[in-house]
Amino acid sequence: MKKHDIKHHLSKDLLLAYSTGQLEEGFSLAIATHISMCDQCRAELESLEAMGGAVFENLEPNEIDVDAFAKTLALIDQTPEQAKVKPKATGLPEPLADYVGCDLDDIDWRPIGMGVKQKILVNSEKVSARLLYIPAGTAVPEHSHKGREVTLVLKGAFKDEIDYFGPGDIELADGDTHHTPVASEGEDCICLAVTDAPLKFNKLIHKIAQPFLKI
Ligand SMILES: [Zn+2]
Repeated sequence: MKKHDIKHHLSKDLLLAYSTGQLEEGFSLAIATHISMCDQCRAELESLEAMGGAVFENLEPNEIDVDAFAKTLALIDQTPEQAKVKPKATGLPEPLADYVGCDLDDIDWRPIGMGVKQKILVNSEKVSARLLYIPAGTAVPEHSHKGREVTLVLKGAFKDEIDYFGPGDIELADGDTHHTPVASEGEDCICLAVTDAPLKFNKLIHKIAQPFLKI
């Protein structure tokens, strides 16, 4: 993966929620993948984990989602040492490679219009995680969010009303964000997008197509 100075990082809140196993599986996947690509957030996570015992003592047992916690631990276990040591034969960071289950080149993409393609990785009632393939110079249809969206660039880059995002950069969006990401010229963009509510597309045609696309 091309070395790029990561400019957009995880928020403290997200790192803390991740380190205590309080995130849904799809969000944990995005966080683990970013951490495998980012020295700065990995160091922050390690210092949070050093304080982890203290955090846990202050939580009521029912505040801990045991299942999510176990999955998070499994993700943490394989980050970052294994991600670094193992050859990246799949072209994907290690936490993600397990979910995709094949090489980047062999993914069975599903077209969602305008040349944009997707591969759904996690589709629970509350959270969905997908890979998006956006051809260079192409826009993802304008949309806004009812809930949170985390987008992590894996390859190429995109630009939206907020900023420019390259490999490893993470964009955090909420219900107030209206944005139209456009893949940069020169290289197709692949990113991981995780949402905790369906995306709202602003044009009628996309609204009609939405139930079929599972967006
Ligand atoms: Zn980071």
